[in-house]
Amino acid sequence: MDVKNCTGCGACENICPHNAICLKSNEEGFLYPEVDEERCIDCFLCNKVCQIENKTEIEKFSKKYYALINKNEKHLKVSSSGGAFLAIAKYVLEKDGVVVGCGFDGELKAVHILTYTLDECIRRLCGSKYVQSEIQESYKKIKEELSKRKIVLFVGTPCQVEGLYLFLKNKPENLITIDLICHGVSSPLLWKKHKEYLERKINQKINKYRFRGKENIGWALYYYYYYGAKNNCKKGPAILDRYYTDFLKGINYRESCYSCKFANLNRCGDITIGDFWGAEKFIKNIDIHKGVSLIIINSLKGNEIIKAISSGIKLREVKETEAIQDNQNLIRPTSRSEERNTYYEKAFNNFELWEKEYTNTLTYKINILKNFVPVSLKKILRRLING
Ligand SMILES: Cc1cc2nc3c(=O)[nH]c(=O)nc-3n(C[C@H](O)[C@H](O)[C@H](O)COP(=O)(O)OP(=O)(O)OC[C@H]3O[C@@H](n4cnc5c(N)ncnc54)[C@H](O)[C@@H]3O)c2cc1C
Ligand code: SF4
Ligand code: SF4
Ligand code: SF4
Repeated sequence: MDVKNCTGCGACENICPHNAICLKSNEEGFLYPEVDEERCIDCFLCNKVCQIENKTEIEKFSKKYYALINKNEKHLKVSSSGGAFLAIAKYVLEKDGVVVGCGFDGELKAVHILTYTLDECIRRLCGSKYVQSEIQESYKKIKEELSKRKIVLFVGTPCQVEGLYLFLKNKPENLITIDLICHGVSSPLLWKKHKEYLERKINQKINKYRFRGKENIGWALYYYYYYGAKNNCKKGPAILDRYYTDFLKGINYRESCYSCKFANLNRCGDITIGDFWGAEKFIKNIDIHKGVSLIIINSLKGNEIIKAISSGIKLREVKETEAIQDNQNLIRPTSRSEERNTYYEKAFNNFELWEKEYTNTLTYKINILKNFVPVSLKKILRRLING
């Protein structure tokens, strides 16, 4: 078993009947399992749930591809893309169900949590967190909720959805899963250090961080927004933030992401969601400004859910080729660059210097100047240049 292929899904830790497995951070800050040999009784349950050597069966279903926009303006605003997740979550919560997804804790660590009300779900789960989320004990908690006959919606990266199915050993009728189109995840330790660096810069604790703020900016630009303890807001394009820039360049991902076995159309969730990049090329008169989700229906259950929420969403069917064209992670994993070899070593050697190095580059300085040009003017200039 090659440890490089471990996705950190947490199924082994959740299944171990003797609590002999603990996910621990490696030198790059990614979590990997460690076994306490004294507690281990060689039952091999952990091997049976491990996705490195096992795979769940995928339902044979003729896939459907759609562009989706949530009709609820407030819900669309707080979502990263077109609000597909929230439309489905609302349906589940109205049926007294449970929605499980990734939220920030008080220290802005990304963790999977269970939510029971729409308000809690919006506050904690909405929006992409561009860092690997810790599953912790959520698979065990989901099993408990399922056994109470509650409807459970689980949202995560495909490796987390697969981890849950392997842990449960089956696909319960009352479980709905959404897998995200996923290019990769960066290390929780890198994110923690970056967040602390930003806190030192503003001399305050950061209470809230959004990777995909849309206010006055629109959807298609990656804009960060963060709020200090004094409720002051800092915002800017990803290019002005080293962590975010490197994340989008794909140079700080977990090793398993570069050979991800889920980066294709054999999706493990009932529904797949992502950004519908390029939607305007295929759909006439679509308003992309506030965000558009790409959704793929992978199962009968997924199809039924989309039918059930149809009054709250705008839906347009597209071809498979159109869905894939600008979303290459649906057909291949992100390429691993040479830069990845020494990335973490260099970053962690002297973190403060590493961050400052970036702000001293000419590209960064040009981008600072560009950032003063209002977005509306940028759009006009782009239109003039492109003709
Ligand atoms: C690490 C990562 C990589 C992604 N890569 C791509 C990509 O290559 N192409 C693409 O089209 N879309 C990608 N996405 C998905 C995209 O950013 C949006 O999350 C997605 O379109 C859903 O948007 P929404 O408007 O429906 O919902 P949102 O309100 O944005 O809901 C997001 C949902 O994602 C879950 N989530 C957030 N962060 C994480 C995380 N770190 N780990 C697990 N689950 C999380 C939340 O629980 C929530 O349920 C990625 C998302 C993440 C988190
Ligand atoms: S073999 Fe069994 S007891 Fe040992 S670590 Fe794996 S699950 Fe736990
Ligand atoms: S079950 Fe998941 S976390 Fe455990 S070794 Fe396998 S891939 Fe890694
Ligand atoms: S790229 Fe693959 S391995 Fe990496 S987080 Fe996404 S689904 Fe998991």
